[in-house]
Amino acid sequence: MPEGPSILLARESLLPFIGKKIKAVHGNTKIEKERLINQNIRDVKTWGKHLLICFDGFTLRIHFMMFGSYLINERKSTPLRLSLEFKNEEINFYTCSLQFLEEAPDQIYDFSTDVLSDDWSPRKAAFKLKKIPDLNVCDALLDQQIFSGVGNIIKNEVLFRIKVHPKSLVGSLPAKLKSRMIRESRNYSLDFLKWKREFVLRKHWLVYTKKTCPRDQSHIYKEYIGKTKRRTFFCETCQLLYD
Ligand SMILES: [Zn+2]
Repeated sequence: MPEGPSILLARESLLPFIGKKIKAVHGNTKIEKERLINQNIRDVKTWGKHLLICFDGFTLRIHFMMFGSYLINERKSTPLRLSLEFKNEEINFYTCSLQFLEEAPDQIYDFSTDVLSDDWSPRKAAFKLKKIPDLNVCDALLDQQIFSGVGNIIKNEVLFRIKVHPKSLVGSLPAKLKSRMIRESRNYSLDFLKWKREFVLRKHWLVYTKKTCPRDQSHIYKEYIGKTKRRTFFCETCQLLYD
């Protein structure tokens, strides 16, 4: 599932389309795609895992869900969800969820919850964490209203980095570790972005999909824990449990 940094890279690749007019649309999406014809792309924004293509008076929101993808000037055999055709170019979206937003993105989204945004507010995240003391940290990190853009890879790697067991409870984390968790959610996302750009992301995984801990050579466990039941990798030796 594409995480925040991948969506930021998607935005970058769509920036050259700003100002260009859509000539035709195709695809099996159920949204009223014809309204896009003759519209100019005015801006491309992101909020966490949402990619937002802005037009005059409305926005197309793209969420890649688990298996979504996009191609520019290329197609694959998967059924097209939506294809935007320009004069000599096209953008193709597959297996994603699409929606039109009638309000301006700034009215709907709080960009200070997006860990990759320049407006990211660690203080706001700390404030929200105070309200969910009984939640496992692995679930808290995936909460898009607190850590917008953080996905399963970032969750696993942040907890490994700060040596915290994913089953730890938010309210039991020492204050210092709580602020480290908040800080590293952004730091790791920035590293992710840099590595992804250089096509070396996988090489830098320390715990995600790993079998042995690089710190102490202990076994890495894989469990589907918390209420989100997402794949969670952890080392019981160096990641301490606070419950
Ligand atoms: Zn370890």
